[in-house]
Amino acid sequence: MATERTFSIIKPDATRRNLTGAITAKLEEAGLRVVASKRIHMTKEQAEGFYGVHRERPFFGDLVSFMISGPVVVQVLEGENAVARNREVMGATNPANADEGTIRKTFAESIEANSVHGSDSAENAKIEIDFFFKPEEIVG
Ligand code: UDP
Repeated sequence: MATERTFSIIKPDATRRNLTGAITAKLEEAGLRVVASKRIHMTKEQAEGFYGVHRERPFFGDLVSFMISGPVVVQVLEGENAVARNREVMGATNPANADEGTIRKTFAESIEANSVHGSDSAENAKIEIDFFFKPEEIVG
């Protein structure tokens, strides 16, 4: 498997609790390299655009409000099999179902405030990276 890139967000519940470093350490321990990172406060338009696929879901409004409730850290992660590796270290969407040792099992507060986002495919990773980063902001 060749080196690939994925996109990650450290969500507002985690930045509020000062967990940026602890979460990044877990990503690095999983073999992922942070090749771009910035702390931003998303606008409503950005959050709605980013989660556009979920627009019709009942949780959409609450999810957008949550994602703009505080700063987030958007990151590009690089490594072998990075998309799958990141999903593995993140754990299940609902922390109650996440495996021991995963980021969500360790840190998440709820199914909504679940500390991290990670792309679910290489195709979406490219779209999500392009949504937040210019090519020159990524230093591999
Ligand atoms: N989410 C939620 N309620 C749900 C399902 C999802 O609030 O019932 C939120 C949660 O923050 C999740 C995000 O919506 O991370 C995107 O959902 P998805 O099913 O894509 O899960 P993920 O890929 O993040 O595990």
